[in-house]
Amino acid sequence: MLTLYNTMSRQKEPFTPLHPGEIRMYVCGPTVYNYIHIGNARSAIAFDTIRRYFEYRGYHVTYVSNFTDVDDKIINAAHETGEAPLDLAQRFIDAFMEDTTALGIEPATAHPRASQMIPDIIDFVQDLVAKGYAYAVDGDVYYRARKFKHYGELSHQNVDELEEGASQHITQEELAKKEDPIDFALWKAAKPGEISWDSPWGKGRPGWHIECSVMSTQLLGDTFDIHGGGQDLEFPHHENEIAQSESKTGKQFVRYWMHNGFVTIGEDDEKMSKSLGNFITVHDILKTVDPQVLRFFMAGTQYRMPIRYSDANLKNAANSLNRLKIARENLVYRRDNAVPGVDPKITEQLQTLKDQFITAMDDDVNVQNGLTVLFDLAKLLNEYANEDTVKRESLDDLLNLYDAWLQIFGVVFADQTNLDADIDALVKARDVARAAKDFAKSDQIRDQLAAQGIILEDTPQGTRWRRK
Ligand SMILES: [Zn+2]
Repeated sequence: MLTLYNTMSRQKEPFTPLHPGEIRMYVCGPTVYNYIHIGNARSAIAFDTIRRYFEYRGYHVTYVSNFTDVDDKIINAAHETGEAPLDLAQRFIDAFMEDTTALGIEPATAHPRASQMIPDIIDFVQDLVAKGYAYAVDGDVYYRARKFKHYGELSHQNVDELEEGASQHITQEELAKKEDPIDFALWKAAKPGEISWDSPWGKGRPGWHIECSVMSTQLLGDTFDIHGGGQDLEFPHHENEIAQSESKTGKQFVRYWMHNGFVTIGEDDEKMSKSLGNFITVHDILKTVDPQVLRFFMAGTQYRMPIRYSDANLKNAANSLNRLKIARENLVYRRDNAVPGVDPKITEQLQTLKDQFITAMDDDVNVQNGLTVLFDLAKLLNEYANEDTVKRESLDDLLNLYDAWLQIFGVVFADQTNLDADIDALVKARDVARAAKDFAKSDQIRDQLAAQGIILEDTPQGTRWRRK
């Protein structure tokens, strides 16, 4: 049974989705004022790996991840470059998509942006004001945190402790406006010359926390299965999301909270973040590191564990990846030269490994243990690559399982798999032509495949293909 560690309860819980067979998840995305740093990449890779595992387990996954494209940092960066803030944000959204594609991260089902949700954000804030959970002061709107009785539950802090913490950081100006130091901004009045939208409280822009409440509930429903993000977002960001959403809907907001660990670097394992100034952008790393190696390196640590970024660890990942690649190449060669038929022994071995893999990964997506089973499978590939009596269909099963597991870790050995996908597509196109009695076209596709050394066999179950 799939179990996930829920930050809310601080323990592993059996996972059951709200809608059978379906998982709806939301993961906080980056503020797009620069190239993503390696900490952002870790979060994106961790949740992409989790998503792919859910899909492997047969769930239909709706995955939403936002872009914060309205924010002080963007306004400041745009001021320096002389661009319009939304143009600068678009430039870094494009860069994000480019970097994450290189890392083998699937695009989200939806990537909503704050700037495109302003009317919905204003409605949401108005509703909170009407319910007495928010108040307007001089064009700002604040959330009355103490009024929400579960405030502090996610981060396991009580409001009085929070108030003491907040009092130390608050400015005199904020203190004058807020009823309570722990209250937080839902809407901010525009400063002269700043990007802004009209609202019932005058010209302004949304605070950061509100966009995630609005986007997630709009796209996934008032209650959804999983909310993810980096550990550093637990407080105040996710605490505030819960307060906003639950006080508006009166329902549970999120059923499982998942937080990924940090990336550390250097000898003292400092948390990598922009504020420490030791961050590295993915854009820079990929100038010298193979994106597949970076992906595999990061996907190989369970999402809650810290990752130590170092050249030595990258090198280890590159070596492991190479071993996996060679095992595949060897077996593909054997498969292409094997006689038809099924080997019951292999069927049995694969079932045992499958059970082991699922047991490992169902335990809070324990990728380290999952990888151990993947390497056991690679060992089997190497063994059978040296046996010339094994049957082709069993070797196909072996390869299919191997590819399915590799994909969970974002690994696709391009030369081989793309080629196979191209051939599959042509074989399908030929079947369609034959069904339509377009024999000229089906013969032409057969010739084209024959030229690539592909032999077709028409069986009652459809067309199979193999290499000469
Ligand atoms: Zn968020």
